[in-house]
Amino acid sequence: MTPGTSGGSGPETWLFADALARCRIALPLADNVGRTHDDRDVYHLLDEVAAGVQAGMEHSRCQRGCDSCCQYPQAFFNVHREEWELIADHVRARWSEDRLVDFLARFHRSLGRLSRGRLALAQLLLDLPLPLRPRPTTFLARCPFLEDHECSIYDVRPWKCRAFGWFSYRRIMGGRLDVYACDEQADALSGPEAGPRLALPSATPFHTRIWRLCSGRALSLPRWLLETWPDETPGATSRSRMRAGREVR
Ligand code: SF4
Ligand code: SF4
Repeated sequence: MTPGTSGGSGPETWLFADALARCRIALPLADNVGRTHDDRDVYHLLDEVAAGVQAGMEHSRCQRGCDSCCQYPQAFFNVHREEWELIADHVRARWSEDRLVDFLARFHRSLGRLSRGRLALAQLLLDLPLPLRPRPTTFLARCPFLEDHECSIYDVRPWKCRAFGWFSYRRIMGGRLDVYACDEQADALSGPEAGPRLALPSATPFHTRIWRLCSGRALSLPRWLLETWPDETPGATSRSRMRAGREVR
C-alpha cells in the first residue's frame, strides 16, 4: 500500500478517524512529552492514533514478544534529552536498587573498551542529518532496555518506538511516503493481502511537535545511559547528572 491510500468504512475506521481528528486539533497545543497522559501530551496523542491504526489493520504483524525492531541496527536511534529524562525518572522511581544494579552491571559488561569507542563513532554517524528510520551501525546486539523479548521501559519508551509499525514517513523531503516499520510489517500493511485498509497517518507532525518541545541534545540510549550512570553504581547518578547537565546543554 502507498501510505495515504484511503481505506474501509467500518467501526475501526471511525475509531482511527476520531483519534486523528482529535489529534489535529490537540497536537499544535500539546506542551509536554510523556508527562500528563492527556491531550496535552504528545506521547498520549501518538498512542491514540497508533491504537486506531492497530484496530483497523487486521494483517498487522506487530505483537507482544516480537522484538526484531528492538535489535541493532534497527533500534539504534537518537532520543531527545526530555525523553531520556522521562525514562531515567521512571527507572529511579519504579525500579528497585537491586534491579538497577543488575541492569547497569549487564549494560557495562556488554560494553568493552572497544565498544565504547565504536559507540562514540556510531553517535557521530547518528548525528548526521539523515532520514527518520533508525540507521545501521555495527556493535551492541540490541537495545539495552530489551529484557526477555519485552521492553522494560514500555510506558516511557521514546516516540520512535511508539510510532514504529503504525505510521508513514517521507525518506527525503518531497520524496514518496513509506511505511515506518520493519519490512515484514510494511509488507503486511501495504501488500495485496492487506485488503480494505486505512490511510496510515504521517509521523511527521508528531516528530515536528516533539522536536519543538524538546530543546535539549539528542543521544542514543546507550550514550544516555553512560552519561547518567557512567559506572555500575547507581549512586553515581547525581555526580554524573551534574556533569551531563554541563556537557549537553
Ligand atoms: S515493527 Fe516489525 S519487528 Fe517490530 S513489533 Fe512490528 S512486526 Fe515485530
Ligand atoms: S526502548 Fe523499548 S521499545 Fe524502544 S528499542 Fe528499546 S526495548 Fe525496544
